[in-house]
Amino acid sequence: MKITVVGTGYVGLVVGACLAETGNDVVCVDVDERKVRSLRRGKVPIFEPGLEELVRRNQAEKRLVFSTSLARSIRDAEVIFIAVGTPPDEDGSADVQYVLAAARDLARAMKGYKVIAIKSTVPVGTAERVREVVRGETTHPFSVVSNPEFLKQGSAVDDFLKPDRVVVGAQDARATELMQTLYAPFTRTGAPIVLMDCASAELSKYAANAMLATRVSFMNEIANVCERFGANVDDVRRVVASDRRIGPSFLFPGIGFGGSCFPKDVKALSRSARDADYTFRILEAVEAVNCAQKRRLFEKMESAMGPLKGKRIAVWGLSFKPRTDDMREAPSITVIEALLAAGARVVAYDPQAQRAARAVFGTRITMAGHSYDALNGADALAILTEWNEFREPDFSRMRSLMRAPLIFDGRNLFDLAQMRARGFIYHSIGR
Ligand code: NAD
Repeated sequence: MKITVVGTGYVGLVVGACLAETGNDVVCVDVDERKVRSLRRGKVPIFEPGLEELVRRNQAEKRLVFSTSLARSIRDAEVIFIAVGTPPDEDGSADVQYVLAAARDLARAMKGYKVIAIKSTVPVGTAERVREVVRGETTHPFSVVSNPEFLKQGSAVDDFLKPDRVVVGAQDARATELMQTLYAPFTRTGAPIVLMDCASAELSKYAANAMLATRVSFMNEIANVCERFGANVDDVRRVVASDRRIGPSFLFPGIGFGGSCFPKDVKALSRSARDADYTFRILEAVEAVNCAQKRRLFEKMESAMGPLKGKRIAVWGLSFKPRTDDMREAPSITVIEALLAAGARVVAYDPQAQRAARAVFGTRITMAGHSYDALNGADALAILTEWNEFREPDFSRMRSLMRAPLIFDGRNLFDLAQMRARGFIYHSIGR
């Protein structure tokens, strides 16, 4: 099939490369000329495991090309995916201006029937708005389908190739059949293609993310309560997780959720519910709990160390989660900003996100070339992202480098008794 993907970010690029992998001819379009230049050279500008290899292989086979010209790219396309950003507006609602702009531009260039599939996470009613925009610009026939994406950064390629389910919100049989054909290679092992109306498809993406965010905030509150009662959240979590009605995922307490999706989608769902005269009380609490949780580790540092002015704090981990270089809404930003405001000096290390973090902090923090370099003369270490390489470090080397054997672990990587035996004063979450 001939496919165009508009927007080559974390989602669009994965979608384009994976659809090319199954033999489709894919054009990925972006307004960012630098990004497109880099992609044409086979250089993927983000860190996503397996993606660069996939892009290069399909580029070499000429099934995947990159362009800045929407008009030329959609000429032969049967399905056009819109995968541009939907960042939060000032009032928390999702800003769909880029989706509508892309729809307008492609409508103007359309010749013949096209399926316009919305991949971006958009509030209920957006498919209808896209329909109106396109109708206003062209007399050619078209269908708009809502096809939200559920991939996770860090395992995005795998998630797309082996989805739990594919959601297609559509109004007509022609578009539904095209989407079913396109997704058939990814659903052969039994993952369902769930068909529904556009509003339900749009809402189901928000519902899934809101549920996951709720679990995280819930467990963070359990952890905070554990601390007050002298209970250990590890044990509590194990019991809760082994209940088959609950399951083990998304029950790890920490320093709050971040990233480009959960915070934005929780806000957007709350906001659109409010616009429809409904107060989504649980989600408002989920967000408030998360804001407070992002500050928890800093508060622990302040209460254990006293004034932080002039203190040298090593930080391990900057990205909002492991296996990505993405810093959007990362809890590390809240923690580090609080440390800097308190007058501490921060020396940070992250395996992939240092470049992105540079854009956030500029020269206000020092980047270390290696995790151990960050520890030189440090008064304390704060662990903010659970990269695998932090899980089994050389503890005696750490102790010899640090001025004080003091660790604040926002990701509960280590065993309490073992850390005591290793000679560390070790603070974590909910234990
Ligand atoms: P992103 O910011 O990484 O990428 C968006 C891209 O769209 C950018 O490269 C930008 O230059 C481009 N763009 C903007 N306007 C354009 C236009 N008119 N024409 C062509 N290109 C244009 O965003 P992302 O993380 O890929 O997210 C995209 C959407 O997918 C969002 O709605 C997001 O909520 C949703 N989503 C994201 C994830 C995730 O893990 N990141 C997962 C599922 C869904």
